[in-house]
Amino acid sequence: MTPFQIAPEFQPDGRRSADAALDLIAQAHSTGFHRFEWTFLNGEGGKVIVDVSLMPITIKGQVMLYATWRDITERKEAEQKYKELNGWLARSNADLEQFAYVASHDLQTPLRNIVRYAQLLEHRYKNRLDADADVFIGFVVDSGKHMTRLINDLLEFSRVSRQSEPLKPISAGEALAQALKNLDLELVTTGAEVKVGDLPTVVADQTYLVSLFQNLLGNGLKYRAPDRKPVLSVSAERVSFDSWRFSVADNGIGIEPQYHDKIFEIFQRLDPASNAEGTGIGLTLCRRIVHRFGGNIWLKSEPGTGTTFFFSLRDGSAAA
Ligand code: ADP
Repeated sequence: MTPFQIAPEFQPDGRRSADAALDLIAQAHSTGFHRFEWTFLNGEGGKVIVDVSLMPITIKGQVMLYATWRDITERKEAEQKYKELNGWLARSNADLEQFAYVASHDLQTPLRNIVRYAQLLEHRYKNRLDADADVFIGFVVDSGKHMTRLINDLLEFSRVSRQSEPLKPISAGEALAQALKNLDLELVTTGAEVKVGDLPTVVADQTYLVSLFQNLLGNGLKYRAPDRKPVLSVSAERVSFDSWRFSVADNGIGIEPQYHDKIFEIFQRLDPASNAEGTGIGLTLCRRIVHRFGGNIWLKSEPGTGTTFFFSLRDGSAAA
């Protein structure tokens, strides 16, 4: 049988096999070499995908076609499965983000009403009901306010990937300067000292790079040791031709090793009763931001001495 007799009537791109084959052969003759994918039928009516190379050769004055077929059916099937799985993951991720957004957005209005009416009760009926009632209403108001903060944070979290600008070269030094400006009040009131090394241009998004620095430095101030002045330092080290490792170090209270993973989870705090304000979303945001930039984030810490957060970012100078 000739190769044409074991081809299906049509190729996957819709062309009639007989016409396509003549075209491909003509191309091989005109260019001297042609490589393409082709579909055959196997004996059981199934398909075999092959990678074909055609090369005209002259033997004893006669032009013939030298052809090799490599069976790539398994590879193509694996690629197809991989594509389907990827598509499924992307859809499932998008669904989850949409869910977080809608849930947090739609919960805002009823919650606002609960807080508002609980506050009204508090103002109008304080000392007019019994003492227990005043305490209970106080709990409702406080919990409502706490939930409002959680929901706002959840919204902010879902925004990081929903409203993402395309990544571009950003000066890390400028982003850090902006973060320090935003933290000015905290820096002054804590009397902190900040040391900054040379910082490169990286592939990122301005707003979120500022937010990353601000969260990490803000934590360095929030979780400072009570007996010493906070010292924060930021530096970057090149680790390969296209990537940098940043470090943001503090001399604060430190974090026990068993919590190093847990603190990146949403709403996880080590000591919620402590005076430090927060809901436990800061580091979750940091991790999401770094992942979006294509990097990783991790930490080293010695309880009682301080913590250093590391994150990797791609070099942006070539792209600039
Ligand atoms: P939040 O600060 O709102 O609690 P984060 O997600 O930023 O939320 O941090 C989670 C927890 O990790 C904090 O509650 C704190 O216990 C711990 N933590 C974060 N950064 C530091 C730090 N630099 N030093 C000590 N503990 C920290």
